Amino acid sequence: MPARNILVINCGSSSIKFALVNEAHSQFPLSGIAERLGSPDAVLHWQRGSGERDSLIIPNGDHRTALSQLLPLVQGAAGGKLHGIGHRVVHGGELFTAATRLDPKVLAAINATAPLAPLHNPANLQGIEAAMKLFANLPHVAVFDTAFHQTMPEHAYRYALPDSLYREHGVRRYGFHGTSHRFVSRRAAEMAGLSVGDSSWLSAHLGNGCSTCAIVNGQSRDTSMGLTPLEGLVMGTRSGDVDPNLHSHLHRTLGWSLEEIDRMLNRDSGLKGLSGLSNDMRSLEKAREQGHAGATLAIEVFCYRLAKSLAAMSCALPQLDGLIFTGGIGENSPLVRSKTVAHLRLFGLSLDNEANARCVRGVGGAIQAYGAPRVLVVPTNEERQIALDTLALLDH
Ligand code: ADP
Repeated sequence: MPARNILVINCGSSSIKFALVNEAHSQFPLSGIAERLGSPDAVLHWQRGSGERDSLIIPNGDHRTALSQLLPLVQGAAGGKLHGIGHRVVHGGELFTAATRLDPKVLAAINATAPLAPLHNPANLQGIEAAMKLFANLPHVAVFDTAFHQTMPEHAYRYALPDSLYREHGVRRYGFHGTSHRFVSRRAAEMAGLSVGDSSWLSAHLGNGCSTCAIVNGQSRDTSMGLTPLEGLVMGTRSGDVDPNLHSHLHRTLGWSLEEIDRMLNRDSGLKGLSGLSNDMRSLEKAREQGHAGATLAIEVFCYRLAKSLAAMSCALPQLDGLIFTGGIGENSPLVRSKTVAHLRLFGLSLDNEANARCVRGVGGAIQAYGAPRVLVVPTNEERQIALDTLALLDH
């Protein structure tokens, strides 16, 4: 059978990220983003392989317009042989524990989960519905960010809140970034020559959103994000954990509304809020070198909180076969890796400085000091994992 092609789509409220994945090649034949959808500046950017880049302005174009412009590009890059479409869906609630073929019943169930992810699921659905109309004769599969974490035990996913909030309203910890944690833990097992079904990992996905995960025998046992992707680590613009009384404190003392507090916690906090400068780790590292106090503090808090979360996640592991760094920061910042590992000295963790410096820009590998527990840099590839999940489902 010739290698198959899957189009992977990730729809936000005003953007569509896409990648054409060929099962036999690590490089995407076509990838890109449509952004500012619904505005006069709507634009589609794409790249063929690692080469030619192109753009098309689609004034006031919506998801459907962008996807219809994309259609001939995808068909061309796939040589007319497209086998299915994999859609990233942020929240699958407790209903979805694995990738699922999309049909009207599944669409209704994703819609019913929307109150748990009001910013994400409706946008995901908008894209799915547009794609299902345009690519009507292809199978469509939903791959959920939450599904991997459905193996968490109850003592890890329950909040200490009245039982009825869980039973009647689904208030519990769900976790996100599941596709990435799953992909990198499998790759880590391969790199270490261990079986994924018989190994234990701590994983740190550090992008604009950040989360840690404890993975035992290929299953998530705990993770730092919760009901929403705001819980846990310091992120680009998100605060991560704060005192749960902060909402009422700010309301009482400053008169802030729920919307103002939500906005502050999700968009104006994290690295951006602490540094007063940027949510981008590259900019912060440069500013730190020039003695910027806010950038220095933001990096210190980021690494300390990350180490604290990893130490907490270790409670879910029977043994530690390795610590994995991934995501834009995890794959590219020797500084963050070394500062984080320095806080974990009680675990015996220690890095080889040269190996740590070498693992950037897509280069993965082991970076621990001789004799110390394994620490791996593993470039993530969520698009590929979504495509593989889609293909696995089509094979059944
Ligand atoms: P997303 O979560 O949006 O997919 P990424 O995984 O691309 O984000 O991660 C974005 C983060 O990675 C940004 O904070 C960016 O500064 C950081 N990053 C990318 N390259 C480097 C680098 N060379 N050094 C430090 N941080 C980097």
